[in-house]
Parts: sequence; structure tokens; C-alpha cells
Amino acid sequence: MSQTPPINGDSPLVREALSSVVSRETAAPPPAAAPSVGYSTRREGDWPKPPHCRVMTVANQKGGVGKTTTAVNLAAALSMHGQRVLVVDLDPQGNASTALATEHRAGTPSVYQVLVDDLSLASIVKEVPEMPGLFCAPATLDLAGAEIELVPMVGREARLKRALNSFEEMEFDYIFIDCPPSLGLLTVNAMAAAQEVLIPIQCEYYALEGLSQLLQNVELVRVHLNQSLSLSTILLTMYDGRTRLASQVADEVRSHFADTVLDAVIPRSVRVSEAPSYGQSVMTYDPGSSGAMAYMEAAREIAHRAAALAKA
Ligand code: ADP
Ligand code: MG
Repeated sequence: MSQTPPINGDSPLVREALSSVVSRETAAPPPAAAPSVGYSTRREGDWPKPPHCRVMTVANQKGGVGKTTTAVNLAAALSMHGQRVLVVDLDPQGNASTALATEHRAGTPSVYQVLVDDLSLASIVKEVPEMPGLFCAPATLDLAGAEIELVPMVGREARLKRALNSFEEMEFDYIFIDCPPSLGLLTVNAMAAAQEVLIPIQCEYYALEGLSQLLQNVELVRVHLNQSLSLSTILLTMYDGRTRLASQVADEVRSHFADTVLDAVIPRSVRVSEAPSYGQSVMTYDPGSSGAMAYMEAAREIAHRAAALAKA
């Protein structure tokens, strides 16, 4: 029978816990890009393919929480392990298109024409340079107008779903939809077209504010537009292991959402934020960086969860 050690001030466990708290608060800051978990750098072959295409909407109405970074890097990581992956850029800012080096100047055929003019998705999708198996449907600034132009249209909430449904020729394993920072018609279209919602949560103060509104929206779309929708995945982003706040936010999110939260946590890392300006994901820009390794681990979890679900 195992014996529980006494919990008092002299207990080695308590001393260890206290000393780690003290050293966290007094020690010199660790290197900026210190990973919060020891990620494996081991490369491996292809990951299991999902039984059918997984359409994942990356949503959070807050700006700057890591939606685009998450969509782009998970997509890149999965494509590096034998998956065919499409990123649909649904944000008029076109940040995902930029990070994937996909043309999105004004006048480029984009998701805007797909939603508003019934252009086929196949005609706008481009393969990402030097990333076999990774594709991008770019967004141009016109898309900002789509929120209003869609209002009077028939089936305005299901325009993207319709476009994806008539799009089988490229046989993707994963489609990530990168949402704008709002809960307007574009995000509703993204949720109506997906089976899964992935919410990135920044490990910062106010991180949970607005979350209940987001969850209500997921529920409204599920009830009225898309019964196969579920919140499948939460990813903790921009984790700064030097602050107690980050670990408090992470604990709180895990206590509410349990297994929905991926074990992998994305650390704050300068390399992650540098990569888009080189038209790259961090997966290729600096594969050995803590951010790249964490996104690789998150992608691996997503791929293997699907395989586990398929077997269940
Ligand atoms: P969103 O799409 O939710 O608005 P982004 O993915 O564009 O958020 O991220 C917001 C900003 O934070 C960007 O400048 C991005 O490069 C940066 N960023 C995202 N994730 C990280 C990270 N893990 N470490 C450092 N910077 C990050
Ligand atoms: Mg974005």
C-alpha cells in the first residue's frame, strides 16, 4: 500500500513546491523562447488519415489570439506528415494568404467571388509554394464587403458550405477555415460549413471574456444550421511560462473544458511572429524553434485523435 507523505512545512514535497514558486519569481528570466513542455524533435512518417475530410473552423471573435497562426501552422504541420490540407482564408485582412505566400492583391480571384458570385472554389485554390499537399484559398480586402453583400442573398449562411460541398476533385484530408475577428456572417458561414470548431485561447488576462458568447454562437449554428457541428478542440496559445497568470488561465481553461483542450501548449515565441513576413509558416521558417515544435505536437494530437475517434 502506498503511503501519502505528510503535508506540512517540512515535507520535501512542499519545500520543492515552494522553492519552485520562489525561484520562478526571483530567478533571472529564462531565454525568451523557452518551451513550456519538452517537445520531441523526432521526425516521423505519415500520420493516419481521417476517414473523411475534417473541416475545422478556427474561430474566436477576439483579434490577435492566434487564429491565423494556428490555422497556418497546423495546416503546414499536417501537410508535412502526408495529409492534403486546404486553408480557407475567410478574413478580409488576408493574413493566412500572406503567411502561405498566396497572391491576394485586389483583383485576385478569391473567397469573395466564391461567396458572392458563385465562382467555384477549385478555380481560386492555389498550391502553396514549396509545400506539397498544402493549398490556400486566398482572401482579398473585398471580403470586408461580403458581410453586407451577403445579407439579402438566398441561403446567405450556407454559401461557403455549398462551395465546399461541390468541391471534391482535390480530395483533402483537412480543411481549416481561418475566421475574421467577429461573429458576423463570415464566421457563421465558416461554422455552417464545418464539423469542428477549434478555438485558440490566448493565455492572457481577459482571455475568457467573450468565450460564452462564442460558445452560444456555436450552439445557435448547431441547432439552426448545422447539426454536425461541435467544439472539438481548444488550443492554448502565446503561453509565457514566466508568468503565473499564464498558468492560471491554462488551469482554468482545462478545468472547464477538460479533454477538449489539447495537451500541447503554444509558447510565446518570436520565431512564430517573424515567420509570416517571410511568407512562411514557422514549421519551415525555423522547425527547431519552440513554437514550431509545439505546433507540430498539437497537429499530431489532432491527427491521432481523429484516428482514435474513427476506431471507437
Ligand atoms: P488572430 O488571427 O487571432 O488575429 P494572429 O494569429 O494573427 O491572431 O496572431 C496575432 C499576432 O500575434 C501576430 O502578429 C502573430 O504573429 C503573433 N503571434 C501569434 N502566435 C504567437 C506566438 N505563439 N508567439 C509570438 N507571437 C505570436
Ligand atoms: Mg487572423
